[in-house]
Amino acid sequence: MSGADAGPLFDRLLIVGLGLIGSSLARRAVADPAIAREVVAWDASPSVRARVAELGIVHRVASGAAEAARGADCVVLCVPVGAMAAAAEALLPHMAPGSILTDVGSTKQSVIRGIVPLLPPGVSFVPAHPLAGTEHSGPDSGFPTLFEGRWALLTPLEDGDAAAAGRVARLWQACGAMTREMDAAHHDRVLAIVSHLPHLLAFTICGTADDLQDESRSEVLQFAATGFRDFTRIAASDPTMWRDVFLNNRDALLEMLARFTEDAQAMARAIRWGDEAFIVDRIVRGRGIRQSLIEIKQA
Ligand code: NAP
Repeated sequence: MSGADAGPLFDRLLIVGLGLIGSSLARRAVADPAIAREVVAWDASPSVRARVAELGIVHRVASGAAEAARGADCVVLCVPVGAMAAAAEALLPHMAPGSILTDVGSTKQSVIRGIVPLLPPGVSFVPAHPLAGTEHSGPDSGFPTLFEGRWALLTPLEDGDAAAAGRVARLWQACGAMTREMDAAHHDRVLAIVSHLPHLLAFTICGTADDLQDESRSEVLQFAATGFRDFTRIAASDPTMWRDVFLNNRDALLEMLARFTEDAQAMARAIRWGDEAFIVDRIVRGRGIRQSLIEIKQA
Protein backbone atom coordinates (compact mmCIF):
# COMPACT_ATOMS: atom_id res chain seq x y z
CA MET A 1 0.00 0.00 0.00
CA SER A 2 1.27 3.44 -0.74
CA GLY A 3 -0.28 5.11 2.25
CA ALA A 4 -1.54 7.90 0.02
CA ASP A 5 -5.20 8.88 0.20
CA ALA A 6 -6.44 5.47 -0.93
CA GLY A 7 -5.88 3.09 1.99
CA PRO A 8 -4.06 2.49 5.22
CA LEU A 9 -0.40 3.42 5.57
CA PHE A 10 0.55 -0.26 5.92
CA ASP A 11 -1.14 -3.48 5.00
CA ARG A 12 0.29 -5.59 7.83
CA LEU A 13 2.12 -3.89 10.69
CA LEU A 14 4.16 -6.27 12.84
CA ILE A 15 5.09 -5.07 16.33
CA VAL A 16 7.91 -7.02 17.97
CA GLY A 17 8.24 -6.69 21.76
CA LEU A 18 4.93 -5.86 23.45
CA GLY A 19 6.15 -3.88 26.45
CA LEU A 20 5.26 -0.29 27.27
CA ILE A 21 6.19 1.09 23.85
CA GLY A 22 5.12 -1.84 21.67
CA SER A 23 1.76 -2.27 23.40
CA SER A 24 1.08 1.49 23.26
CA LEU A 25 1.79 1.48 19.53
CA ALA A 26 -0.41 -1.61 19.12
CA ARG A 27 -3.32 0.00 20.95
CA ARG A 28 -3.04 3.14 18.84
CA ALA A 29 -2.65 1.29 15.53
CA VAL A 30 -5.62 -1.01 16.16
CA ALA A 31 -7.78 2.00 17.01
CA ASP A 32 -6.91 3.79 13.76
CA PRO A 33 -7.68 1.94 10.51
CA ALA A 34 -5.68 4.56 8.60
CA ILE A 35 -2.50 3.07 10.11
CA ALA A 36 -2.75 -0.58 9.09
CA ARG A 37 -5.23 -3.11 7.78
CA GLU A 38 -3.88 -5.71 10.22
CA VAL A 39 -1.78 -5.30 13.38
CA VAL A 40 0.19 -8.40 14.36
CA ALA A 41 2.27 -8.95 17.52
CA TRP A 42 5.35 -11.05 18.21
CA ASP A 43 7.21 -11.26 21.52
CA ALA A 44 9.93 -13.69 22.58
CA SER A 45 8.16 -14.23 25.89
CA PRO A 46 5.30 -16.81 25.85
CA SER A 47 3.67 -15.16 28.87
CA VAL A 48 3.70 -11.75 27.12
CA ARG A 49 2.18 -13.32 23.98
CA ALA A 50 -0.56 -14.92 26.08
CA ARG A 51 -1.26 -11.67 27.89
CA VAL A 52 -1.41 -9.67 24.63
CA ALA A 53 -3.94 -12.14 23.23
CA GLU A 54 -5.96 -11.89 26.42
CA LEU A 55 -5.90 -8.07 26.34
CA GLY A 56 -7.04 -8.12 22.69
CA ILE A 57 -4.80 -5.17 21.77
CA VAL A 58 -3.79 -6.53 18.32
CA HIS A 59 -5.66 -8.27 15.55
CA ARG A 60 -3.46 -11.36 15.87
CA VAL A 61 -0.55 -12.76 17.90
CA ALA A 62 1.90 -14.60 15.64
CA SER A 63 2.95 -18.16 16.37
CA GLY A 64 6.64 -17.63 15.52
CA ALA A 65 9.13 -15.02 14.35
CA ALA A 66 9.32 -16.32 10.77
CA GLU A 67 5.56 -16.54 10.37
CA ALA A 68 5.23 -13.08 11.91
CA ALA A 69 7.66 -11.47 9.47
CA ARG A 70 6.22 -13.08 6.35
CA GLY A 71 3.73 -10.71 4.71
CA ALA A 72 4.46 -7.77 7.01
CA ASP A 73 5.19 -4.61 5.03
CA CYS A 74 6.37 -2.82 8.18
CA VAL A 75 8.09 -4.34 11.21
CA VAL A 76 8.64 -2.21 14.33
CA LEU A 77 11.21 -3.53 16.79
CA CYS A 78 10.20 -2.52 20.34
CA VAL A 79 12.66 -4.70 22.29
CA PRO A 80 15.48 -3.51 24.61
CA VAL A 81 18.36 -2.02 22.59
CA GLY A 82 20.68 -4.89 23.53
CA ALA A 83 18.20 -7.34 21.92
CA MET A 84 17.59 -5.37 18.68
CA ALA A 85 20.14 -7.19 16.49
CA ALA A 86 19.05 -10.66 17.65
CA ALA A 87 15.39 -9.80 17.07
CA ALA A 88 16.20 -8.41 13.60
CA GLU A 89 18.26 -11.47 12.73
CA ALA A 90 15.29 -13.76 13.41
CA LEU A 91 12.93 -11.68 11.24
CA LEU A 92 14.93 -10.23 8.33
CA PRO A 93 15.40 -13.46 6.30
CA HIS A 94 11.59 -13.74 6.12
CA MET A 95 10.83 -10.13 5.19
CA ALA A 96 9.87 -9.43 1.58
CA PRO A 97 11.71 -6.96 -0.67
CA GLY A 98 10.00 -3.57 -0.42
CA SER A 99 9.17 -4.00 3.26
CA ILE A 100 10.35 -1.65 6.02
CA LEU A 101 12.15 -2.44 9.26
CA THR A 102 12.13 0.26 11.92
CA ASP A 103 12.77 0.40 15.67
CA VAL A 104 12.02 2.52 18.74
CA GLY A 105 15.34 2.07 20.57
CA SER A 106 16.60 4.74 22.96
CA THR A 107 20.11 4.57 21.45
CA LYS A 108 20.61 4.86 17.72
CA GLN A 109 24.25 4.31 16.73
CA SER A 110 24.45 0.91 18.46
CA VAL A 111 21.17 -0.27 16.92
CA ILE A 112 22.32 0.85 13.45
CA ARG A 113 25.70 -0.90 13.91
CA GLY A 114 23.92 -4.11 14.91
CA ILE A 115 21.26 -4.19 12.19
CA VAL A 116 22.82 -2.75 9.01
CA PRO A 117 25.12 -5.76 8.37
CA LEU A 118 22.07 -8.06 8.57
CA LEU A 119 19.91 -6.23 6.00
CA PRO A 120 18.95 -8.27 2.93
CA PRO A 121 18.64 -6.42 -0.41
CA GLY A 122 15.32 -4.63 -0.80
CA VAL A 123 14.45 -4.26 2.89
CA SER A 124 14.67 -0.63 4.07
CA PHE A 125 15.78 0.13 7.61
CA VAL A 126 14.58 3.37 9.22
CA PRO A 127 15.96 3.86 12.76
CA ALA A 128 13.59 5.85 14.97
CA HIS A 129 12.96 6.78 18.60
CA PRO A 130 9.69 8.10 20.04
CA LEU A 131 10.54 10.34 23.01
CA ALA A 132 7.70 9.11 25.18
CA GLY A 133 7.60 6.76 28.09
CA THR A 134 6.78 6.10 31.71
CA GLU A 135 8.57 4.16 34.43
CA HIS A 136 6.28 1.15 33.79
CA SER A 137 6.93 -1.83 31.55
CA GLY A 138 5.08 -4.82 30.12
CA PRO A 139 1.95 -5.14 27.94
CA ASP A 140 -0.44 -3.92 30.65
CA SER A 141 1.39 -0.60 31.01
CA GLY A 142 0.77 0.72 27.48
CA PHE A 143 -1.88 3.23 26.46
CA PRO A 144 -2.86 4.61 23.03
CA THR A 145 -2.20 8.29 23.77
CA LEU A 146 1.40 7.78 24.98
CA PHE A 147 2.91 9.43 21.88
CA GLU A 148 0.52 12.36 21.62
CA GLY A 149 2.27 15.72 21.50
CA ARG A 150 5.68 14.04 21.94
CA TRP A 151 8.63 13.98 19.54
CA ALA A 152 9.53 10.97 17.43
CA LEU A 153 13.10 11.31 16.14
CA LEU A 154 14.15 9.56 12.94
CA THR A 155 17.84 8.92 12.26
CA PRO A 156 17.74 7.67 8.63
CA LEU A 157 20.78 5.92 7.16
CA GLU A 158 22.90 8.06 4.82
CA ASP A 159 22.05 5.88 1.83
CA GLY A 160 18.57 5.03 3.19
CA ASP A 161 15.28 5.01 1.31
CA ALA A 162 13.65 8.44 1.72
CA ALA A 163 10.19 7.10 0.84
CA ALA A 164 10.45 4.49 3.63
CA ALA A 165 11.56 7.19 6.09
CA GLY A 166 8.54 9.24 5.02
CA ARG A 167 6.18 6.34 5.78
CA VAL A 168 7.72 5.77 9.22
CA ALA A 169 7.36 9.50 9.92
CA ARG A 170 3.68 9.25 8.92
CA LEU A 171 3.25 6.27 11.28
CA TRP A 172 4.42 8.37 14.25
CA GLN A 173 2.43 11.37 13.12
CA ALA A 174 -0.66 9.15 13.02
CA CYS A 175 0.11 8.29 16.65
CA GLY A 176 -0.03 12.00 17.47
CA ALA A 177 3.73 12.62 17.55
CA MET A 178 5.78 15.40 15.96
CA THR A 179 8.66 14.07 13.87
CA ARG A 180 12.17 15.30 13.12
CA GLU A 181 15.16 13.80 11.35
CA MET A 182 18.52 13.84 13.12
CA ASP A 183 21.99 12.38 12.71
CA ALA A 184 22.35 9.22 14.88
CA ALA A 185 25.50 10.41 16.68
CA HIS A 186 23.84 13.74 17.49
CA HIS A 187 20.74 11.88 18.74
CA ASP A 188 22.86 9.82 21.13
CA ARG A 189 24.57 12.94 22.58
CA VAL A 190 21.28 14.81 23.01
CA LEU A 191 19.58 11.81 24.66
CA ALA A 192 22.59 11.28 26.93
CA ILE A 193 21.92 14.64 28.57
CA VAL A 194 18.12 14.81 28.47
CA SER A 195 17.33 11.21 29.39
CA HIS A 196 20.22 8.84 30.09
CA LEU A 197 22.11 11.04 32.60
CA PRO A 198 18.93 11.90 34.58
CA HIS A 199 18.18 8.18 34.88
CA LEU A 200 21.75 7.48 35.99
CA LEU A 201 21.41 10.19 38.65
CA ALA A 202 18.05 8.83 39.83
CA PHE A 203 19.36 5.27 40.19
CA THR A 204 22.44 6.61 41.99
CA ILE A 205 20.64 8.90 44.44
CA CYS A 206 18.24 6.09 45.38
CA GLY A 207 21.26 3.83 45.90
CA THR A 208 22.90 6.47 48.10
CA ALA A 209 19.74 6.77 50.22
CA ASP A 210 19.51 2.99 50.42
CA ASP A 211 23.12 2.82 51.70
CA LEU A 212 22.37 5.14 54.63
CA GLN A 213 22.22 3.75 58.14
CA ASP A 214 18.97 1.93 58.80
CA GLU A 215 17.53 4.69 60.94
CA SER A 216 18.10 7.46 58.39
CA ARG A 217 16.88 5.23 55.58
CA SER A 218 13.48 4.77 57.14
CA GLU A 219 13.28 8.53 57.61
CA VAL A 220 14.21 9.09 53.97
CA LEU A 221 11.18 7.02 53.00
CA GLN A 222 8.87 8.44 55.63
CA PHE A 223 9.63 12.09 55.01
CA ALA A 224 10.47 11.89 51.30
CA ALA A 225 10.09 15.39 49.93
CA THR A 226 8.95 15.89 46.36
CA GLY A 227 12.58 16.15 45.18
CA PHE A 228 13.42 12.62 46.32
CA ARG A 229 9.99 11.29 45.32
CA ASP A 230 10.51 12.50 41.73
CA PHE A 231 13.83 10.64 41.61
CA THR A 232 12.23 7.44 42.91
CA ARG A 233 9.64 7.56 40.10
CA ILE A 234 12.40 7.65 37.48
CA ALA A 235 14.39 5.01 39.38
CA ALA A 236 11.43 2.61 39.17
CA SER A 237 12.23 2.08 35.45
CA ASP A 238 12.95 -1.32 33.92
CA PRO A 239 16.45 -2.69 34.78
CA THR A 240 17.00 -4.53 31.47
CA MET A 241 16.04 -1.55 29.36
CA TRP A 242 18.30 0.85 31.28
CA ARG A 243 21.24 -1.54 31.56
CA ASP A 244 21.12 -1.79 27.77
CA VAL A 245 20.80 1.97 27.25
CA PHE A 246 23.81 2.72 29.49
CA LEU A 247 26.00 0.07 27.85
CA ASN A 248 24.94 1.04 24.33
CA ASN A 249 25.46 4.80 24.69
CA ARG A 250 28.63 4.47 26.75
CA ASP A 251 30.78 7.23 25.21
CA ALA A 252 28.16 10.00 25.12
CA LEU A 253 26.87 9.11 28.58
CA LEU A 254 30.34 9.06 30.16
CA GLU A 255 31.13 12.41 28.53
CA MET A 256 27.95 13.99 29.92
CA LEU A 257 28.59 12.44 33.34
CA ALA A 258 32.11 13.94 33.38
CA ARG A 259 30.72 17.39 32.54
CA PHE A 260 28.02 17.01 35.19
CA THR A 261 30.59 15.92 37.80
CA GLU A 262 32.69 19.04 37.10
CA ASP A 263 29.61 21.25 37.42
CA ALA A 264 28.55 19.52 40.65
CA GLN A 265 32.07 20.09 42.01
CA ALA A 266 31.78 23.78 41.12
CA MET A 267 28.51 23.93 43.06
CA ALA A 268 30.15 22.15 46.01
CA ARG A 269 32.94 24.73 45.97
CA ALA A 270 30.45 27.62 45.88
CA ILE A 271 28.60 26.14 48.87
CA ARG A 272 31.86 25.60 50.79
CA TRP A 273 33.02 29.21 50.23
CA GLY A 274 29.60 30.80 50.56
CA ASP A 275 29.54 32.04 46.97
CA GLU A 276 25.93 33.20 46.98
CA ALA A 277 25.99 34.69 43.49
CA PHE A 278 27.15 31.40 41.94
CA ILE A 279 24.50 29.38 43.81
CA VAL A 280 21.70 31.77 42.87
CA ASP A 281 22.85 31.86 39.24
CA ARG A 282 22.62 28.04 39.00
CA ILE A 283 19.17 27.96 40.57
CA VAL A 284 17.90 30.74 38.31
CA ARG A 285 19.24 28.90 35.24
CA GLY A 286 17.45 25.73 36.37
CA ARG A 287 14.19 27.61 36.80
CA GLY A 288 14.67 29.12 33.34
CA ILE A 289 14.96 25.67 31.76
CA ARG A 290 11.75 24.58 33.51
CA GLN A 291 9.94 27.72 32.30
CA SER A 292 11.09 27.11 28.71
CA LEU A 293 9.76 23.54 28.85
CA ILE A 294 6.38 24.77 30.06
CA GLU A 295 6.29 27.34 27.25
CA ILE A 296 6.93 24.71 24.54
CA LYS A 297 4.40 22.35 26.20
CA GLN A 298 6.92 19.59 26.94
CA ALA A 299 6.85 19.85 30.74
P1 NAP B 1 9.59 -3.51 27.95
O1 NAP B 1 8.31 -2.98 28.54
O2 NAP B 1 10.60 -4.13 28.83
O3 NAP B 1 9.22 -4.56 26.78
C1 NAP B 1 10.15 -5.19 25.93
C2 NAP B 1 9.54 -6.50 25.44
O4 NAP B 1 10.39 -7.08 24.42
C3 NAP B 1 9.42 -7.57 26.53
O5 NAP B 1 8.14 -8.19 26.48
C4 NAP B 1 10.54 -8.56 26.17
O6 NAP B 1 10.28 -9.87 26.61
C5 NAP B 1 10.51 -8.48 24.65
N1 NAP B 1 11.72 -9.01 24.02
C6 NAP B 1 13.00 -9.00 24.47
N2 NAP B 1 13.83 -9.54 23.56
C7 NAP B 1 13.06 -9.92 22.50
C8 NAP B 1 13.35 -10.52 21.24
N3 NAP B 1 14.60 -10.86 20.88
N4 NAP B 1 12.32 -10.78 20.39
C9 NAP B 1 11.04 -10.46 20.73
N5 NAP B 1 10.72 -9.87 21.91
C10 NAP B 1 11.72 -9.59 22.79
O7 NAP B 1 10.35 -2.37 27.15
P2 NAP B 1 9.87 -0.88 26.70
O8 NAP B 1 9.96 0.02 27.86
O9 NAP B 1 8.62 -0.97 25.90
O10 NAP B 1 11.10 -0.52 25.74
C11 NAP B 1 11.21 -1.10 24.45
C12 NAP B 1 12.17 -0.29 23.61
O11 NAP B 1 11.70 1.06 23.55
C13 NAP B 1 13.60 -0.22 24.13
O12 NAP B 1 14.50 -0.32 23.07
C14 NAP B 1 13.68 1.14 24.77
O13 NAP B 1 15.00 1.64 24.72
C15 NAP B 1 12.73 1.95 23.90
N6 NAP B 1 12.10 3.09 24.54
C16 NAP B 1 11.63 2.97 25.82
C17 NAP B 1 11.02 4.06 26.43
C18 NAP B 1 10.51 3.97 27.85
O14 NAP B 1 10.36 5.00 28.51
N7 NAP B 1 10.22 2.81 28.35
C19 NAP B 1 10.85 5.27 25.71
C20 NAP B 1 11.28 5.33 24.38
C21 NAP B 1 11.91 4.23 23.81
P3 NAP B 1 10.99 -10.33 28.03
O15 NAP B 1 10.36 -9.46 29.06
O16 NAP B 1 10.68 -11.76 28.13
O17 NAP B 1 12.46 -10.05 27.86
